[in-house]
Amino acid sequence: MKIHINGKLVPKEQAVISVFDHGLLYGDGVFEGIRVYGGKVFLLEEHLKRLYEGARAIRLEIPVSQPELASAVEETVEANNLQDGYIRLVITRGAGSLGLDIRRTSNPQVIIIADTISLYPPELYEQGLKLITASTIRNHPQALSPQVKSLNYLNNILAKIEGTDADCLEALMMNHKGEVAECTGDNIFIVKNGVLKTPPTDAGILEGITRAAVIQLAKQAGLDVREVTLTRHDIYTADECFLTGSAAEVIAAVSLDCRQIGDGKPGPITKDLKKRFEALTRGE
Ligand code: PMP
Repeated sequence: MKIHINGKLVPKEQAVISVFDHGLLYGDGVFEGIRVYGGKVFLLEEHLKRLYEGARAIRLEIPVSQPELASAVEETVEANNLQDGYIRLVITRGAGSLGLDIRRTSNPQVIIIADTISLYPPELYEQGLKLITASTIRNHPQALSPQVKSLNYLNNILAKIEGTDADCLEALMMNHKGEVAECTGDNIFIVKNGVLKTPPTDAGILEGITRAAVIQLAKQAGLDVREVTLTRHDIYTADECFLTGSAAEVIAAVSLDCRQIGDGKPGPITKDLKKRFEALTRGE
């Protein structure tokens, strides 16, 4: 496997960074997870836009331009002969002295890993996921905006632990107002009386690239799509529920906190949107 690090493709053993890097010491940096389908990087521009915006928000200057980074991603995919896989793009603050001061860091590291991923077992794409609500709430937007895909994912990891402890591979996270935000690594949608609903950005969520693609597909399919505040009750009483993410793609959720959602199986609108999303990934 070849890793792209600071402009060079090197064998993975040689892809190393300093133990003084603030990405490691403080989770100081930003990242993206991007799919590759049929050798083509899926929605690369959208992911790069979010990466650069997140970097701007945390005062991190990415040392290469967006077109240069796009080329580097393509180059890494080619060098690894990747047909269907997953790219992890990481920008760290760079090495510095101990202490938080970003003025004492230099050399942000630009790392591109092209590998494969399988987030959930294949049978769960047929059966749907069970969810629980985590007691850990999503980061308060005024502490660290969930719109920044930062290298500090502890907020999500703590909620994920609550999920896996309860035998659930995903967990629902509420926001500081007690409203539905998103899951630990996926956005959430419900269907109620034929209307597709998902929490708005100001619910304190990562604005998922897959979320945006699915909203567009749903509108094209003639569905009524609404970005509205949701409560847990809305999910308990939904007809259908599904999650979206680059790694997860589109996957049904069939229960929350032991309340069956709909008839406890992936619903027809979920299945239809999953099909439409798969066609999009094939470039159709
Ligand atoms: N929410 C969170 C917290 C995430 O980490 C992710 C990505 N894994 C998503 C939503 C989905 O975003 P995207 O569709 O851009 O992958």
